[in-house]
Amino acid sequence: MTFSHDAMHHLRQVPGLRVLPGAELRHHTRFRLGGPCWFLADAETPEAFQQAYITLAAAGIPWTSIGAGTNLIVNDAGYPGAILRYSASRILVPGTNIFVDAGAELNALVDTANAHALAGLESMAGIPGWVGAAIYGNAGAYGQSIHQRVESVRFFDGRELRQWSKAECGFRYRHSRFKEHKEYQILSATLQLEPGDAAALQAVSQKIRATRDAKFPPSMACAGSIFKNFLYKDLPDRARAAVPPAKVIEGKVPAGWFLEEVGAKGLQVGGIKVADYHANLIYNTGHGTTADLLALIAELKTRAWHQFNLSIEEEVQYLGFDTATSHA
Ligand SMILES: Cc1cc2nc3c(=O)[nH]c(=O)nc-3n(C[C@H](O)[C@H](O)[C@H](O)COP(=O)(O)OP(=O)(O)OC[C@H]3O[C@@H](n4cnc5c(N)ncnc54)[C@H](O)[C@@H]3O)c2cc1C
Repeated sequence: MTFSHDAMHHLRQVPGLRVLPGAELRHHTRFRLGGPCWFLADAETPEAFQQAYITLAAAGIPWTSIGAGTNLIVNDAGYPGAILRYSASRILVPGTNIFVDAGAELNALVDTANAHALAGLESMAGIPGWVGAAIYGNAGAYGQSIHQRVESVRFFDGRELRQWSKAECGFRYRHSRFKEHKEYQILSATLQLEPGDAAALQAVSQKIRATRDAKFPPSMACAGSIFKNFLYKDLPDRARAAVPPAKVIEGKVPAGWFLEEVGAKGLQVGGIKVADYHANLIYNTGHGTTADLLALIAELKTRAWHQFNLSIEEEVQYLGFDTATSHA
């Protein structure tokens, strides 16, 4: 596969599309890791996004999409293809419904809902990233996740605009059917909220943001929790027998508990380190590489397997490691 200058030239003419050749992905990810892509294309409108999608597919250029890059591990070698971002960010509040574009910041959505005295998203305050990826990965925290509020999602399947109801989205813990159809690109969603009290909702969000800022300082180069938590019922026998009952909360056991038991806290490979205070938080000290990060993740997985017979699974998404993730 080779870089197509013709396709890039064509894309540069598309209104509402901004094309950045050779973008270094470390500048577009919170981990500050990852090499270059052929070009990064930001689409501000659904038309520009569809045009870009169709042009890349027709030219046979591998591509994938990202949002704010807060849940990504990108290869040191970068991504051999184009990266698309959909940056439309309208948030419209006609009643107890909210219409939101996929490129809106989740935090802006939470603040808008709170200000309109609409309850149901307030506990998701402080989760970084954009709404499209939040739906894709069914983001959530403190007892709320986005699927609880989704009424419908509009997406482009490569040929036409389609809409799925909440049921069709197949949400479960940190999962939606969009993960099984990476070629489907989320453009907007309608959420259903409930009447609440604006001041009370804002107070909840403020408290959660303060807690989160202490745990994940805004300047920290990381992806939040690296590994998914576990459903207690799905644990292998050896792991289930080891977990103290107090660690089972709403049927889930934090991956951090197992990681702490295997001595993860403070572990370091090159410039990548597990936080001293949180075993499921890995960060870039400033001079780390993705190779360091992969080595550290592999070490944690091996330890968890040996001690608990447990396969710990990443919550983060990988980019640039498997050409099967390309859409063309
Ligand atoms: C400090 C910190 C704390 C965090 N805390 C939490 C937390 O409490 N709960 C939680 O759930 N997550 C948490 N995360 C992870 C992250 O914030 C979420 O996964 C977030 O939803 C990712 O959004 P993003 O825009 O950055 O997506 P990206 O990282 O850019 O992309 C993630 C994936 O989404 C796909 N994608 C992006 N946009 C679209 C689209 N429009 N259509 C289809 N697919 C798309 C991409 O292909 C990619 O695979 C945290 C991350 C950090 C850094």
